[in-house]
Amino acid sequence: MARLQLNNLEKVYGGGFKAVHGINLDVEEGEFMVLVGPSGCAKSTTLRMIAGLEDITGGEVRIGERIVNTLEPGKRGIAMVFQNYALYPHMKVRTNLAFGLRIGGAKKAEAEKAVEEVAKILEIEPLLDRLPKQLSGGQAQRVALGRALIKKPDVFLFDEPLSNLDAKLRASMRVRITELHKRLKKEGMASTVVYVTHDQTEAMTMGDRICVMKDGHIMQVATPKELYDRPQNLFVAGFIGSPEMNVIDGRIDGTAFRTEGQVINLDEALAQRLTARPEQAALGVRPQHLKLAEGDNDALQAQLRSVEFMGHEVYLHALLDGREVTSVASAADYDAMDRSMDMIRLLPEPANIHIFDRESGHNVSLRAQG
Ligand code: ADP
Ligand code: MG
Repeated sequence: MARLQLNNLEKVYGGGFKAVHGINLDVEEGEFMVLVGPSGCAKSTTLRMIAGLEDITGGEVRIGERIVNTLEPGKRGIAMVFQNYALYPHMKVRTNLAFGLRIGGAKKAEAEKAVEEVAKILEIEPLLDRLPKQLSGGQAQRVALGRALIKKPDVFLFDEPLSNLDAKLRASMRVRITELHKRLKKEGMASTVVYVTHDQTEAMTMGDRICVMKDGHIMQVATPKELYDRPQNLFVAGFIGSPEMNVIDGRIDGTAFRTEGQVINLDEALAQRLTARPEQAALGVRPQHLKLAEGDNDALQAQLRSVEFMGHEVYLHALLDGREVTSVASAADYDAMDRSMDMIRLLPEPANIHIFDRESGHNVSLRAQG
């Protein structure tokens, strides 16, 4: 277990392309940190620099007290699990697990004991004498996990390890990995984890904290709850949360937000905490906070386009001033709705409205923490 620090870390690839723009990240001892962002934002490049599989152009990687920039991968105290877990096909699971230790000079008996231990933790004891081709995808991924775990690394690196699994298996492996981390942490054995994914659900459910990246920059580092409640910019607001946050363009006029054709009254508290009044503003409200309204209040008019049934809730997709918005309604509210017209009335919950500067993307309405 060790603290991991990235200080002004930079990567310029051979052709002169700058992939990582001087990022700073501090991962605490035993912390589960998720790097998330769209494909191409340099998650893998960052992870590979930590692992020592990619040269560092500028800045430093620190593991514990050491700067490891030029240390070879085998000496950094790390283990890595990839999307393609590539077990040795001709070796039994038992031998696959022990391989790294044996190469590192461990005695046979010592390696065997470690294999038994790891197999027990991952519940793969019955699989030890099988060949990789006799394993299901989920089982093979657990063996790959075991192969990394057996090294007792200070820092555990994952690069989209669940991407090849089907949705159901992915969900159960997600829980398994976080449970394992919690359990090992209790026993004082857990590694510090950096886990890369492009999937916001994986990030939200697994991370102690999440680092959101875009184009080689860090957009925000925070706990899942804070990212959801207090996104610092439009990018994070749109990337985190499902369905995606609604963004409505307009301008601020006193305590009102005016779109082309409609008015949204902002509550006093929100109007007061605006740190700026951008010329071109965007109002953000999550579909869960854009409610079906009744009666003649301040509701917005929108034209209902389509409805998705999700079981206990319903996603309503509508056009508001020509822009698509989504509202999550309870199935009961939807049933009770007057469906004779295609116009619906929507009301953003005043306490859950964000105001962004359209140009810079900054959230100028951040609520106090907590
Ligand atoms: P991610 O893992 O977030 O999808 P990568 O770290 O793989 O992103 O890539 C980040 C950027 O660096 C991309 O634009 C990619 O095309 C570029 N890149 C990755 N590897 C190389 C390389 N070996 N040479 C040049 N550019 C690269
Ligand atoms: Mg990648």
